[in-house]
Amino acid sequence: MAFDLPVDHIKGFMERDEGLALYDAARACAALGPCLEIGSYCGKSTVYLGAGCREAGGVLYALDHHRGSEEHQIGEEYHDPDLVDPASGRFDSFAAFRRAIEEADLVDTVVPLVAPSRLAARAWATPLGMVFIDGGHSREAADADYEGWAGHVVPGGLLAIHDVFPDPADGGRPPFEIYERALASGRFEESGAVLSLRLLRRLDRPVES
Ligand code: SAH
Ligand code: MG
Repeated sequence: MAFDLPVDHIKGFMERDEGLALYDAARACAALGPCLEIGSYCGKSTVYLGAGCREAGGVLYALDHHRGSEEHQIGEEYHDPDLVDPASGRFDSFAAFRRAIEEADLVDTVVPLVAPSRLAARAWATPLGMVFIDGGHSREAADADYEGWAGHVVPGGLLAIHDVFPDPADGGRPPFEIYERALASGRFEESGAVLSLRLLRRLDRPVES
């Protein structure tokens, strides 16, 4: 089935063509195991991925501490004042995220994990059909996402990375660097690219040492 959920009203940083590629990837990978995204923000990518998982009868873990990345903080370039919780005065995207998931009728498919990526990864042991990395873009955050999650992708499954910019003039390096790390590991091969989204297939062969 073609993706047909409304997403344009959801705040976020995901082009439609990238979202449609995520939808197709999740629909295909959900049979291999649950899927997991790092960096949900207000749920735009979550709705694309969740719709794919739902069609395959799968589950999507949507991980975000909902406190925003560096560039979302008050005074920073991508700050959105609508996402400040008046009760706490802090950035908080969880209410908007929850609304998006409810409106898309995805509450029976999406499991929100409201935690820092590093903490959620610490005791994780479930093999994953697909991992989508779109969390913090500092080197520290991107490395933690790669090291904490890429190893859980099952053979045949996909590692997807957003904001991969081979030309430094187009954007920051850490997502590109973990993309290169994944390829250099010998465990992944490139299987698709849409705008700044890269899809890497987990290979079956053992890691060469
Ligand atoms: N995928 C979203 C955009 C994600 S923006 C979309 O489609 O629009 C990046 C998100 O990563 C932010 O919501 C931020 O809160 C989250 N994030 C950044 N660092 C994180 C960390 N260490 N652990 C969990 N979430 C993190
Ligand atoms: Mg992104």
